[in-house]
Amino acid sequence: MRRRRRVKIVATLGPASEGVERMSELFCAGVDMFRINMSHASRDAMRERVLAIRELEKRFDRPVGILADLQGPKLRIGAFASGSVELERGQRFTLDASPEKGSSSRVHLPHPEILISLEPGHVVLLDDGKLALRILEATPERAVTEVVTGGKLSDRKGVSVPDTVIPITAMTEKDRSDAEAAVDAGVDWIAVSFVQRPEDVAEVKKLARGQCAVLAKIEKPQAVARFEEIMETADAVMVARGDLGVEVPLEKVPGIQKRITRLTRRTGKPVVIATQMLESMIASPVPTRAEVSDVATAVFEGADAVMLSAESAAGQYPVEAVAMMNGIAEEVEGDLNHAIIIAAQRSAPEATGADAIAAAARSITETVGVSAIIAWSESGATALRIARERPELPILVLTPNVRTARRLAIAWGVHAVVTDDAHDLDDMVNRAVDIARKEDFVKPGERVIIIAGLPFGTPGATNMIRVAFAR
Ligand code: PEP
Repeated sequence: MRRRRRVKIVATLGPASEGVERMSELFCAGVDMFRINMSHASRDAMRERVLAIRELEKRFDRPVGILADLQGPKLRIGAFASGSVELERGQRFTLDASPEKGSSSRVHLPHPEILISLEPGHVVLLDDGKLALRILEATPERAVTEVVTGGKLSDRKGVSVPDTVIPITAMTEKDRSDAEAAVDAGVDWIAVSFVQRPEDVAEVKKLARGQCAVLAKIEKPQAVARFEEIMETADAVMVARGDLGVEVPLEKVPGIQKRITRLTRRTGKPVVIATQMLESMIASPVPTRAEVSDVATAVFEGADAVMLSAESAAGQYPVEAVAMMNGIAEEVEGDLNHAIIIAAQRSAPEATGADAIAAAARSITETVGVSAIIAWSESGATALRIARERPELPILVLTPNVRTARRLAIAWGVHAVVTDDAHDLDDMVNRAVDIARKEDFVKPGERVIIIAGLPFGTPGATNMIRVAFAR
């Protein structure tokens, strides 16, 4: 099964998308990677979904990526004596360390790490940013605030502190156990939520022991500020616009999305654009024009993947939402301006053999008629360097490693096929051409470019490029 687009589609699983049959429908509509949100899935549910996806892989004989998204430290206030209170703009309101039930003048903040970090002038957002407080005085026991935006505040609503670096890692005990279970279950990617520092990503990479790749969710201003260091540590990044839009003013989100997409494209690591892409399709079979335009923007920018959250997890039209994303992507990638915009953001190759060869391959495709670029890639590194070039032709990746093939489900333009390593030069060329024909990338008499590393089976040895004709 060959996709007719380069951008990939990630779909979140949930009650609307359980079971192999429903997942198969989603896969056929265009899903390349499934996301399991550990905020909502138990470890048993995660394991069941992994098994169902592996079943689906067998059914379609295609590698499918699985992303386990860790919940991260969800910060919440305590409870009120009356269940909720109404806060008025301009009034004083205290967040403190006392576990007593709250009132309209105070509430428990059961996170000493926030209380010790707050400083006068910092903003505290409550309930997805609906209410805002400004700190007047802060001690390790209490923070006295002025209500900037008032409203109803009820038990255990979420807390965000966009100005404050909190001295905790992005991993809770639950996250650590979830990450270990996800590695054992054989997921391909782990997403780290509420990253603030590169160390937060490094901690999960250590847990993943090289068995799965690690994606950093950029959803805090602290992560935006240290983005380049975080990107260096992570294997991929996600612009997680849901929480990002709570922690930074909404109007800043598009600029941040564009900056992150462009910076990440330069590194060749995958970048995913997530949240509310087709939000209205939770309840409607057609999206709004603005949502279509939002998906199109991500595709025009050359993002590796676009993601569905509640649309596929809990919406009424999960298959329609995937099909809509697929249709938008195909249309945008066929637009004349797409190639021009993608090329304008292409950055120069780095001074490595792999980059020199990836750039040369793209340049050959612009000189002679070629149907596909085929790369033998053990670890997937060469595949990503070719994808970084954003060539106009499809990238067929041949790998002996099923984990590599699954991981590449997130990468722009890559169609990965698992096959044994080539044993000599003739085998490498003949098998590449045969697989390209079988997978519908080339017809007899057409040319392909083949990239490989000699000696075979040596990761990082990309040093060969060849133009061959399909028989
Ligand atoms: C987001 O905040 O945009 C996001 C993807 O994370 P979650 O769905 O876990 O809130």
